[in-house]
Amino acid sequence: MPKINLRGVEKNYGANAANAVANLDLEIGDGEFMCLLGPSGCGKTTTLRMIAGLEHLTDGEIQVGSRVVDSVTAGVFVPPEKREMGLVFQSYALWPHLTIERNTDFGLRLRNLPKAEREERVGKVMKTLGIEEYRHRYPSQLSGGQQQRVALARMLAVNPEVLLLDEPLSNLDAALRLEMRAELKRLHREFKTTIVFVTHDQWEAMTLATTIAVMSAGMLQQVGTPNDIYDRPANRFVAQFVGNPPINILELAAGSPADLVVRARSYFQQRYAQIEDIGSVGIRPEAIRIVGPKTPVPEDAFAGSAEVSGILPTGGSWIIELSTAGEKLFLTTHQAPEIEVGAMVEFFVKPKTLHVFDGAGRRSKT
Ligand code: ATP
Repeated sequence: MPKINLRGVEKNYGANAANAVANLDLEIGDGEFMCLLGPSGCGKTTTLRMIAGLEHLTDGEIQVGSRVVDSVTAGVFVPPEKREMGLVFQSYALWPHLTIERNTDFGLRLRNLPKAEREERVGKVMKTLGIEEYRHRYPSQLSGGQQQRVALARMLAVNPEVLLLDEPLSNLDAALRLEMRAELKRLHREFKTTIVFVTHDQWEAMTLATTIAVMSAGMLQQVGTPNDIYDRPANRFVAQFVGNPPINILELAAGSPADLVVRARSYFQQRYAQIEDIGSVGIRPEAIRIVGPKTPVPEDAFAGSAEVSGILPTGGSWIIELSTAGEKLFLTTHQAPEIEVGAMVEFFVKPKTLHVFDGAGRRSKT
């Protein structure tokens, strides 16, 4: 049984507003690390707040375990404090007048647990998060990252069955964010908590999640493992949102006279004759290979020639920009390029790495 089940969930903030969340069906499995991923305003936070009980649904139903916690038709609403969930938001308010130890203990005190049990749990969670040495300090005496850990410790101490996190790492610098991601993954393994994590950062979602739910404009676009989302994007939106540098898209329907597009159109029409409506093709930057003197080019590859119009070193890898008659392709490589800007090169792409989308942007069955 899924841990959290959203059925036909809808949220509308006002009579004339568009739906912040529309007809959302989503199952979050027990022990899953689910990332809600999407651009700003797509409805991620609203979804999380509805799961938490901080926002009423306009329609639909949410079930947690065997209990319906919110149902518009059945008139059920379980308030947030009765949902047994831990919440950490972007701004993680610690009590400034309490020590780190007392902050960590806060939720346990509210629950009136015996002192010995509280001490044991606080000790364990502080140790796990590496904040033991700060136990007698106050929040203002800690760095942002350390405070973030205390906020997490406070949540974990009460051992919630579900942990809801809304961009909890957004205030941290890059190095700390990476460290905290590793920590979160470790905590997830250790505590086996079901986690719902909101982020607009595709990289964060890819590194953390067991499952990613991609949203756009209040609608769910795809649910899958990070690999599914990357390797088999359900539509152009997902393909373009996930991946850095972004996927190359060749518009085939627009009738561009660019040599590359003409070639692509004929290649794809032949190869995928069964698909009536090819709108565009997506090519991941790492799927494009430049042909060297000894590179074997597979017979069935999509190939072309182009001018090298840019080389961008990114530290250990390079982004190379190829241009043909107004069309641009970006490719990435980990080998130092032995070519110069202005050179003409041959390139190819293996068919199995291509993504074909129909006129409406949906992935075609290839
Ligand atoms: P972000 O990453 O910027 O936080 P998000 O994906 O979490 O974005 P939401 O905060 O869920 O998006 O917002 C979804 C939509 O609902 C947006 O159009 C937003 O303007 C609107 N919205 C959110 N909260 C309210 C509110 N309290 N009243 C009215 N509209 C709201």
